[in-house]
Order: sequence, then structure tokens, then C-alpha cells
Amino acid sequence: MKIKDIGEFGLIERIHAKAGRSSYPVVIGIGDDASVLDVGPRNQIVTTTDMLVEGVHFLRDSIEPFDLGFKSHAVNLSDIAAMGAAPAQSFLSFGLPPDMEVETIDTFMDGFMEVGEGVPLSGGDTVSSPHGWIISVTVIGTSPAGRVLRRDSGVPGETIWLCGPVGDSAAGLSILLGQTTKVDEQGAQFLIKSHNRPLPQVRMGRILLEAGISNCAIDVSDGLLQDLGHICKRSKLGAELELESIPLSSPIKELASANGLDPYRWALRGGEDYSLLFTVKPENEKKLLRVLEKEEIAAVPIGRTVPGKGVRVFRDGSEVETGPDGGFDHFRERP
Ligand code: ADP
Ligand code: MG
Repeated sequence: MKIKDIGEFGLIERIHAKAGRSSYPVVIGIGDDASVLDVGPRNQIVTTTDMLVEGVHFLRDSIEPFDLGFKSHAVNLSDIAAMGAAPAQSFLSFGLPPDMEVETIDTFMDGFMEVGEGVPLSGGDTVSSPHGWIISVTVIGTSPAGRVLRRDSGVPGETIWLCGPVGDSAAGLSILLGQTTKVDEQGAQFLIKSHNRPLPQVRMGRILLEAGISNCAIDVSDGLLQDLGHICKRSKLGAELELESIPLSSPIKELASANGLDPYRWALRGGEDYSLLFTVKPENEKKLLRVLEKEEIAAVPIGRTVPGKGVRVFRDGSEVETGPDGGFDHFRERP
């Protein structure tokens, strides 16, 4: 059997089966946005790692090194945000082609440090790579002992909230790949920036945890349907989304209409926005609204959790057919 036959998530399940169950002091092992380690009565350690490979995640000539540095740190900080943790230190490992200009790395580092909000780079590794640039980042964070936002903590009857955009990054990528014709330069730059410099929702994640507003969150890295599907699967519940509640930016609407496309396709399936998706019990909604106003954070309710399984999407009260959840999978053949 080939890896492409089972896909990325099938492969991770096989690895997970070999890894066995996590046991104390590992509170969360494989399967969430980050792992959680019990280190004593006050805090726990939250760790995540992600890799970017030239030719898979980026093309060296079509992304500025600054943006690449920014994005490779941002995607890891986003997983820390999805746990409600505070980032504490980062590690950066490179596989580098020897003929690369050193200035490229200087600029990469400027972008890497810009998004970190002061998180110190505390180590890493540097090796040569004959077949392109490989970037591996690890971020370690902390959260109060026994408390973290988990993918498996959702319960039926909660409202599903979204903090941050969805679809803009995929729309920006479609411009970069020449799949869509841009309408205006400003809108195009906005969408491309969403793709190249996604903003991890670290502050929102921490607030949700510290104020006890939510127990359950994921960051939208692979597409809204797929990532909400992860919450449903892990929490053993279903979800209903109202399409018209999902906020769309003006540039995505304009690009879609100019190209005869449905912007919700990007919003539901596009990845790499790194928004935060979380669930809130009815009794915590007032507190959430107060916090959003006070902290000037934009988040919107987009649906609800229900008993059952799978994600159903409604438009003006009628269910729409979405097909398989179809977000990004590294090994599945693209149609
Ligand atoms: P995310 O999109 O949040 O980075 P992934 O979908 O990449 O999460 O990974 C899902 C889970 O599988 C995570 O807990 C991750 O740590 C784990 N995982 C992925 N690849 C491996 C691997 N090679 N070995 C062990 N765990 C892995
Ligand atoms: Mg994640």
C-alpha cells in the first residue's frame, strides 16, 4: 500500500498506533494542535512542531524570504493559540542548499522574529540540503496546570465561533498561481498578504482559556470544513454551519464575482488562514461578547454543535451539499 492511498491522516493514525497511548506526564499526545506535558502544580508545557518544504509549501521564487520567515513562525504560533497557551520559546531548524545567498536567511529571520511578539528563538539545527530548502519550527508554550483548549472537549448545544478570516488565503494563492484574474491591485495585495503573512490568534486563544469561555478550539489550517470535522470527530459530535454567517472580506467577494466563482468554496475548503475556531456554551456567551468588545477582537458565531456526527452546512435554512470535507491532505492525489 502506498502512502498516497491512505493520505496524510491515515498515515498519522498508523504512526499513532505504533506510538501507543500517551501516559502521564503526557496529558495530550498525538491528535491535537499541540502536545501537553504536566510539569508540576502551576503550569504545563505545550509543544508544537511544523515543517515547510520548498516545492510543497512554497516556491522559492514566488515568496519573499521575509514572508516565508513570518509564515513558518506564524503557523506554529497558531497551533499554540489553538491550545489557549502562551508561547514561551521557539526553535528553528534549516536544511539549506549551499548555493543560497546568506542575505536570504537574514531577511527570513527578520520575518520570523516579526511575528513572534517577542518570543525568543532558543535553538535549532542547521544542515545542508541537496534538494531545496527545508524549514522546521518548534514552539513551546505554557498554560495553567490542567487547563488547555482541546479538540475533544466540544459538547452538543454549543455555539461555534470563528475569530479571523476564512478563504482569503486560498483566494490569495489563486492569484499567485494565476488561477484567477485579479480585479484591483489593493484587493489582490490584501488577499496575497493573507496568504503570505497569516496572523496567529494568540491573544484570542489565551483570553478564551484564561476567562474560562471555551474548552474546545482548533486553528483553521486545512480548511474550515476539515478542521471543524476534526473537532467533531474527536469530540464525537456533529456540527451545523450557517453559510451566510461566515464573514467574507470585500476583496474575496470581488475576486470571486469577477471570476464567476463561489467565494464560499474558498471559505469552506481553503486552508492556511490560521483563524481560530472554538465552541462556547450558552451560559458563557455573554462573557464572550463582553470580552470581544473590551479587547476589540472580532469573532462571529457561525453555527452550533449537535448530537451525531459530521458537518452539515445550511444556506438560508436549506441544507447545501458539500461533498467530502476535502481540505488539504499532503498525500492524496489532487483531482
Ligand atoms: P496541525 O495541522 O495542527 O499542525 P496536523 O494535522 O499536522 O496538525 O497533525 C495532527 C496530529 O498528528 C498532531 O498532534 C501532530 O503532532 C501529529 N503528527 C503529525 N505527524 C506526526 C508524526 N510524524 N509523528 C507523530 N505525530 C505526528
Ligand atoms: Mg493546528
